Amino acid sequence: MQASGQASLSKDASIHIIGQGLAGSVMAFRLIEAGYRPLVFDRGLANASSMVAAGMWNPVNFKRLNVGKHPELYIESMYDVYQRMETWLGVSFFRPLPIIRLYDSREEVHQWDLHEAMGKSGASYLSNPSHPVSDARVRHMHGAGLVQEGGRVNLPVMLHAMRARLQAEGLLRETTHEEDPQALTIHCSGMDVKAHPYWQWLPMAPNKGQVLTVRIPDFDTAHIYHFGRFVVPMEGNEYKLGSTYELNPDNALPDDEKGLEIMQDCNKTLEVDTTIVSHKAGYRPTTFDRMPIVGRHPERMNHYVFGGFGSRGVYYVPLCSARMIDFLIHGTDLPRDIGTSRLTKYYRTSADTEK
Ligand SMILES: Cc1cc2nc3c(=O)[nH]c(=O)nc-3n(C[C@H](O)[C@H](O)[C@H](O)COP(=O)(O)OP(=O)(O)OC[C@H]3O[C@@H](n4cnc5c(N)ncnc54)[C@H](O)[C@@H]3O)c2cc1C
Repeated sequence: MQASGQASLSKDASIHIIGQGLAGSVMAFRLIEAGYRPLVFDRGLANASSMVAAGMWNPVNFKRLNVGKHPELYIESMYDVYQRMETWLGVSFFRPLPIIRLYDSREEVHQWDLHEAMGKSGASYLSNPSHPVSDARVRHMHGAGLVQEGGRVNLPVMLHAMRARLQAEGLLRETTHEEDPQALTIHCSGMDVKAHPYWQWLPMAPNKGQVLTVRIPDFDTAHIYHFGRFVVPMEGNEYKLGSTYELNPDNALPDDEKGLEIMQDCNKTLEVDTTIVSHKAGYRPTTFDRMPIVGRHPERMNHYVFGGFGSRGVYYVPLCSARMIDFLIHGTDLPRDIGTSRLTKYYRTSADTEK
């Protein structure tokens, strides 16, 4: 457990949030709901990885066939906060959608059997490969399984609505953050947090990803399909198709080669006509242990971080923001698996940190 935050945070405290991506938006919503008036700084959503993301959530890691800790709490918190945000913002962006997993080999089916026999969690969230696939245009040589607890958040819809609301409430500054030593500052700046002198030591790295938005006429809009790549229904006949994983990237720009790779894999599995609407790329802010980074700076007591959501921001942000709010407002300890206290050795050994 991380040591407590403020004993009790006064309602008129000056609070700055840096970044209005998914993390900053949900954090701002929770603070406003609790009676605070946070000032949100965002220099442009064009650079936000939240605008690139497909917005899918899925409790199962298909590669390892496992599920992280407390999936039921993460799922409950998603339903709770996203639906309340929809009501507050007057827009619809949250959509539960079962995921059809097309098993890609006999080994994967065998792995499922083993996990089931051992009573492991992945096999309780993903069904065996006997789920029917009604669309003959979907190839599935090794069978298909179903994850009931999946879905997607239409992040551009949510972020634009949140931006308009913050603007209307006088709580948005569309500029780079201006330091104020008196303000309690929450860094929700995605991968850019590492550019701030207090946070260069964080064990976070960019994992570049690319996603296509495509139009597919007359295709299933009631399921997400996953076969190494994913197809996520958005609005009308538009789908997100992705994605790629690229370590040590030089830039966050889309490139034709990766776009083609996604299309070729999609064409191997789906016999459908696709028209590309857009092609985007961004950085997933990933951490060494694949868990978010939430909490206070080890020495700068007015600085907090809320980030490191990797490829699972939609799933992690709701529950982690509830924990962060409890920490900030009530001084409740943070769970060690997400708290900054697990990282102090990185802080101590960093040479480039301004201490
Ligand atoms: C290709 C791809 C596909 C993905 N698919 C999914 C998916 O399906 N599901 C899922 O859950 N996640 C997915 N992700 C991951 C998801 O995008 C991230 O986990 C999440 O969006 C991170 O949100 P964030 O708010 O922390 O950061 P961002 O969305 O990057 O937001 C940070 C914001 O801070 C602003 N900012 C930074 N520094 C400053 C400053 N000094 N002053 C003012 N503003 C500042 C930036 O302009 C930006 O708007 C995907 C990512 C990629 C790249």
